[in-house]
Amino acid sequence: MKDRLTAFGPDFPFAFDDWLEHPEGLGAIPSDALGSEVAVVGAGVAGMVAAYELMKLGLKPVVYEVGRIGGRLRSEPFDAAPHIVAELGGMRFPKSGTALWHYIDLLGLETRDFPNPLTPAAPTTVIDLEGHSFFAESASDLPGVFAEVSDAWHRALDEVAHLSEIQAAMIRKDSSAVREIWQQLVDDWDDRTFYDFVATSPAFADLSFRHREIFGQVGFGTGGWDSDFPNSMLEIFRVVMAGFEEDQHFIVGGAEQVPRGLWNHAPDNIAHWEPGTTVASLHSGAPRPGVTGIRRAGSQLEIEDRWGQTRTYPAALLTVQSWLLTTSIDVEETLFSQKVWMALDRTKYMQASKTFVMVDRPFWKEIDPQTGRPKMSMTLTDRNTRGTYLIDNGDDEPGVIVLSYAWQADAMKVLAMTAGERAELAIETLEAIYLNTDLRGHIIGEPITVSWEADPHFLGAFKGALPGHYRYNRRMHSHFMQAEMPAEQQGIFLAGDDVSWTPGWAEGAVHTALNAVWGIANTFGGRTSPDNPGPGDVYADIGPIELPDE
Ligand SMILES: Cc1cc2nc3c(=O)[nH]c(=O)nc-3n(C[C@H](O)[C@H](O)[C@H](O)COP(=O)(O)OP(=O)(O)OC[C@H]3O[C@@H](n4cnc5c(N)ncnc54)[C@H](O)[C@@H]3O)c2cc1C
Repeated sequence: MKDRLTAFGPDFPFAFDDWLEHPEGLGAIPSDALGSEVAVVGAGVAGMVAAYELMKLGLKPVVYEVGRIGGRLRSEPFDAAPHIVAELGGMRFPKSGTALWHYIDLLGLETRDFPNPLTPAAPTTVIDLEGHSFFAESASDLPGVFAEVSDAWHRALDEVAHLSEIQAAMIRKDSSAVREIWQQLVDDWDDRTFYDFVATSPAFADLSFRHREIFGQVGFGTGGWDSDFPNSMLEIFRVVMAGFEEDQHFIVGGAEQVPRGLWNHAPDNIAHWEPGTTVASLHSGAPRPGVTGIRRAGSQLEIEDRWGQTRTYPAALLTVQSWLLTTSIDVEETLFSQKVWMALDRTKYMQASKTFVMVDRPFWKEIDPQTGRPKMSMTLTDRNTRGTYLIDNGDDEPGVIVLSYAWQADAMKVLAMTAGERAELAIETLEAIYLNTDLRGHIIGEPITVSWEADPHFLGAFKGALPGHYRYNRRMHSHFMQAEMPAEQQGIFLAGDDVSWTPGWAEGAVHTALNAVWGIANTFGGRTSPDNPGPGDVYADIGPIELPDE
């Protein structure tokens, strides 16, 4: 499709979707390298995309996973009804993320519109601010101040960030036009925060502090974004430009089906391996254990697992959260340059917590006779729950309520609480908003909760780059281009959410996995078809803009 917005840049305007869908495939590996082993550390979506594509090319991915396949696409079943899941990590996937959707479609997964605020899928929204509740079916039902905030945001994006212009270039897949606009924004905004943008944009100049506050609480599509206010404005530009806040869908049965599906999927066109081969079958059904050490051994890389077994590989891909490379995994220092270590270590993570309950049915759709409104709506509030989402699994199925999805300080407030305590706190908040609704009377089973920062294998939810971090992002992203690197640093690759330009979005993690596939194939002497150049073939021309260090 040539006429719709996709995540074509803005940093690296390469059409991953076209590369994936081209009949020539992602390239070919020389026959003497076919069957060579490649270690893939981490079985999240980045690791599984890479393992799947490396297998298709005729290499042998050897996947290591300390926990469970899926990583931050974790769909936790409720004990009493295991087909009903709580989406602990990624839960809504914008259609513009076409590389991720390539795999969602390949696996034939069913998807539905995500019930975001003020969208028909919700289908009603309550915004509760400073003790006042506003009920709306669409944005036009809200008091005028909300429209003023929304208009100012859109105007600011167009006036300051040339949003319409860059999106038009992204739709045309015009890499030079995208880069030209983006270069100026990187120069102007790498040092500045999201809050700075809201406070200083001319479109907000005539509006009050209250408008900025409402903007922080209600956000611009999926919820309040004030927790991102300290982050680099470039992070926010990317999300908006790529259309990630729009047209979002959830995966029926859970997003974990994507990495798990790739583990079990037998590709049609596969080099070297017998038809029917899967990543699972190359592993006798289970990944290898967690990794504890990575060292150089001559031209090979030595990977040690937590049971003390050591195996060597000509190439390895690391997809774990980058702080783990200096904490729980003993990685030989000379494997990365000091500049790359600086980037890996300075990367900043966002905290996030979610608390879920299962309810007997989607009772919230029933009309409260006293108010004439549904018993509950998608709810955005400045109270501690922040965002409450209602997942309708059908009238004859239990529903799921995301009682609270909160970031940063709001996530930290509940860090020390049990799932039960968090659920109580959230229910009390919702009872203060929905005075007549007996939420407790509908809950079945035990609540499920997550704080990603409390998990030793994640240490945070996703990257949230601070001002001045553009160079760090670029160092990590461009690491797959290894021709100029000293020999001792070659053969080890990085991918995943932390390496991505759009952290917190699985699409970006998939892009980095595909970059790594190109880099690893190249290491083995592999080449792409001239008709279907890969990311590394065009990186010198359209790769991310470089800012000087000195
Ligand atoms: C709360 C939350 C909400 C999100 N919402 C969305 C959303 O709505 N839409 C969206 O598109 N994206 C969303 N994301 C982002 C998305 O989930 C991530 O971009 C994506 O899942 C990252 O995949 P990954 O493979 O890069 O990393 P991960 O999934 O973290 O995979 C890394 C893997 O490495 C494993 N590991 C760690 N240490 C070791 C070791 N020593 N040895 C072996 N394995 C190890 C981990 O167990 C993990 O499985 C969200 C993420 C979070 C946390």
